[in-house]
Amino acid sequence: MEKAIERIRDKDPEQQEFHQAVDEVFTSVKPVLDRNFEFRQQAILERITEPERVIMFRVPWMDDEGQVHVNRGFRVEMNSALGPYKGGLRFHASVNLGIIKFLAFEQVFKNSLTTLSMGGGKGGSDFDPKGKSDNEVMRFCQSFMAELYRHIGPNTDVPAGDIGVGAREIGYMFGMYKKLKNEFTGVLTGKSLAWGGSLIRPEATGYGAVYFAAEMLQTKGETFEGKSCLVSGSGNVAQFTTEKINALGGKVTTLSDSSGYVYDEEGFDTAKLNFVKELKNIKRGRISEYVQEYPKAEYIRVDPSLDYNPLWAHSADCAFPCATQNEINTKDAEHLIAGGVGLICEGANMPTLPDAVDILHEHNILFAPGKAANAGGVAVSGLEMAQNSMRLSWPRQEVDARLKHIMKSIHKTCLDAGTEYGVEGNYVAGANIASFVKVVNAMLDQGLV
Ligand code: NDP
Repeated sequence: MEKAIERIRDKDPEQQEFHQAVDEVFTSVKPVLDRNFEFRQQAILERITEPERVIMFRVPWMDDEGQVHVNRGFRVEMNSALGPYKGGLRFHASVNLGIIKFLAFEQVFKNSLTTLSMGGGKGGSDFDPKGKSDNEVMRFCQSFMAELYRHIGPNTDVPAGDIGVGAREIGYMFGMYKKLKNEFTGVLTGKSLAWGGSLIRPEATGYGAVYFAAEMLQTKGETFEGKSCLVSGSGNVAQFTTEKINALGGKVTTLSDSSGYVYDEEGFDTAKLNFVKELKNIKRGRISEYVQEYPKAEYIRVDPSLDYNPLWAHSADCAFPCATQNEINTKDAEHLIAGGVGLICEGANMPTLPDAVDILHEHNILFAPGKAANAGGVAVSGLEMAQNSMRLSWPRQEVDARLKHIMKSIHKTCLDAGTEYGVEGNYVAGANIASFVKVVNAMLDQGLV
């Protein structure tokens, strides 16, 4: 295992996020490797970390002043043992191949946990939609799809949204795909309801994370009633995490973006959350503008040179990092513990650094890794694919009930795998072991391909 990790580091030394994700999975699955010596001859660790295909391409586009720009597009088709590649597209200035590979690698295991037939992939671009006009975003999306269309399809690879890619971007990309292929098909998920989207898809990641956390609380005989929660981010996942916490009787006191965060001691109730949704989704504003409408709340700009995020130093019962990777370091973990947090549930992908996870485990904090806790989004994407294939739309209650059922079953899968391999209550190990075993068995069944 150490040799495999070393080879991966040597091959692509700059891909730190990918190494971090691989380290975590490999460390967790050591007991599985010890029981299955044949995995070594089959080079399973090498095969599972090498993408089946990496597509990198030029995305030229023109701004409203006639200036031409060039961004880089990516699609990493990581593993198709369980079904067509499935995973989101991220548009953010920080995007590079290492980040997309880490996300694609995580996606393989996450998709396996959903029990649906989906392989893993991820893509995106270093294009930053912030501050761009609708027309600029449309031209970018069309140029991006002008290349991507030849690599994807409803039975091959089905992308969705992620950071910077919401209903608007999915619409522009779907339109371009349809024009180029002359085919109206379920090639993207997260589509608008009127033309093939699924009810509950926008809500699914946030709702699913809270359903998962509720299951964890139940193991301690607790519920969300009266619990205070810290949430980071203010995008899709943060918004619907907040909505579901409110619905279950909890209170959310923080929301953030990449510049800073708002602390509202009274909580983001429905009216305040609706204000945030309009601010972020329609006006495309910054979270700092919240305090102009609600002056009793406080806006704290976060100095990027600080070695901790003061958001995590507020007292609370639960924390939901829902912005991006590597948001919680060891200092933040110590602050969370000192502030009384008993549960941390990752709405984002890999927001907690490995050393911080170790500290949380040492203090017996309930900790849910993103690949299990935020799998509700891709699960409902899988349900969107099923509805598209049948040319049917299921009602809201039905999709929500299926989402809840899937999150409960992922929770049980993690607990059972942890118990079977002697790491009871460790959701990180449980999620990694259960998903790894399923993907590897499928790979072995399908031969050396
Ligand atoms: P959005 O683009 O809707 O929102 C992202 C939020 O995170 C924004 O508030 C953004 O602030 C903030 N953010 C982004 N990058 C950074 C950064 N480098 N530092 C601090 N804050 C940052 O994305 P989503 O809500 O869809 O995604 C959030 C996380 O959840 C990601 O990790 C994503 O991979 C994960 N996820 C999303 C799923 C989905 O269904 N959407 C499914 C599963 C996981 P700003 O506006 O300043 O950039």
